[in-house]
Amino acid sequence: MTGAEPPLSDTETAFQDMAHAFARDVMRPVGEKLDRMTQDEILKKDSIYYTEFRPKYLALEINPVTLGELPPAELGKVLPIIMEEFGWGDGGLSVTIGACQLPPLLALMFGKQHLLQRFPVDLIGCWAITEPDHGSDSLDPSKQIFHPQGKYGRPNCVARIDGNKVILNGQKSAWVSNGPIADVCVLYSAADRGNGPDPENGVVMLVPMNAKGVSRGKFIDKLGQRPLPQGEIFFDNVELSADHIIAGPEEFQRAVYAIHCEANGQMGAIWTGSARASFEIAWKYAHERKQGGVPIYRHQSVAKSLFHMYRKVEASRALVRRVALYNMTSPMPSLQSAMATKVTATQTAFEVASDALQMLGGNGNTREYPIEKILRDARASMIEDGCNEILSIKGGYQMMDPDLL
Ligand SMILES: Cc1cc2nc3c(=O)[nH]c(=O)nc-3n(C[C@H](O)[C@H](O)[C@H](O)COP(=O)(O)OP(=O)(O)OC[C@H]3O[C@@H](n4cnc5c(N)ncnc54)[C@H](O)[C@@H]3O)c2cc1C
Repeated sequence: MTGAEPPLSDTETAFQDMAHAFARDVMRPVGEKLDRMTQDEILKKDSIYYTEFRPKYLALEINPVTLGELPPAELGKVLPIIMEEFGWGDGGLSVTIGACQLPPLLALMFGKQHLLQRFPVDLIGCWAITEPDHGSDSLDPSKQIFHPQGKYGRPNCVARIDGNKVILNGQKSAWVSNGPIADVCVLYSAADRGNGPDPENGVVMLVPMNAKGVSRGKFIDKLGQRPLPQGEIFFDNVELSADHIIAGPEEFQRAVYAIHCEANGQMGAIWTGSARASFEIAWKYAHERKQGGVPIYRHQSVAKSLFHMYRKVEASRALVRRVALYNMTSPMPSLQSAMATKVTATQTAFEVASDALQMLGGNGNTREYPIEKILRDARASMIEDGCNEILSIKGGYQMMDPDLL
């Protein structure tokens, strides 16, 4: 059901099979159960998040260190295949996996081996960049799309750099994926080097979540991606040695660019997988459900709708894989291309889930069928990692040639 798939290499097939089995046997059933639990129930140490999902995910040994052993041209092909399968299993759980991979990935990208040793790959990670007063703002430190009459105001979180130590104060937003459960946080914060807080030239650092002065807000309750724990993180005079820094003020804009290329590219693959799941559910149902004396597939509008679902999934996958390979192998990854994958795949996931729900008729609207959950999950994806509107404006500006204006 993966469409016009050219032959995959043995390595690609092996990773696809492994990821698909995990998505089918663990992610999908666990995700459906977690979706119906309260956020407090998910947090308990005996919940299936910890007893079933986490150990089986760790057993796969799919992480930035093991994947980093592949040549870039192979990794650029393997990664979107793995993430598509995970997204097929469960969108929210795929994001929890993605967030876990960010601390080691950033440490590797910026050559901080000592941080990789201090914070091994089996820890739960999170990425804290957005703030209560700065959501879209935080993802635009170059102020490319900032309103001409805008005033940034105070950042909610500030890292004061004082010689060889950093003191953190403030908070990050309630949307931090894995915030309530993380062992280590990739913190993107405004920096203060003695001249006041500067959000344009901030700092990126790894923060142990058990450091003195770090605390968490409560789990947020929400519409979609309910298996993904999200919540605020607070910093009260948290003092860390400067060797926790991954990228200082001079490298901050590069670090935002790098993580956006990475995160948006992975989101593209995850939500292509989610769209494929919706398509497959609708395709199967159309063969089984009879109306007017025939399977509904025989009705022209149903066949046409399935064709458009298929077309969108195929187009999304083709873009995602092309960009992943380019970004993994070129000296400078393309941000607008990564953004194009995220916007395309999440829009596709939402549209295909909505069309699939329509095809399942009244059944689609019930909790007995998986499609209403996938629709809720896909709806959230159009906001996370940057609202699609913001990414589209920023992506458009990225493509502009000032010499031709
Ligand atoms: C499921 C999920 C997971 C997430 N995971 C994380 C995470 O791991 N870490 C993290 O730090 N954050 C995370 N987020 C936060 C996410 O990145 C933000 O929600 C997103 O960037 C938007 O910020 P906001 O919610 O504050 O909306 P706002 O920035 O307040 O935007 C509100 C509306 O105004 C529009 N708008 C805002 N500014 C502009 C502008 N300049 N031009 C045009 N329109 C504008 C937006 O498009 C949007 O429609 C997550 C969010 C979700 C939903």
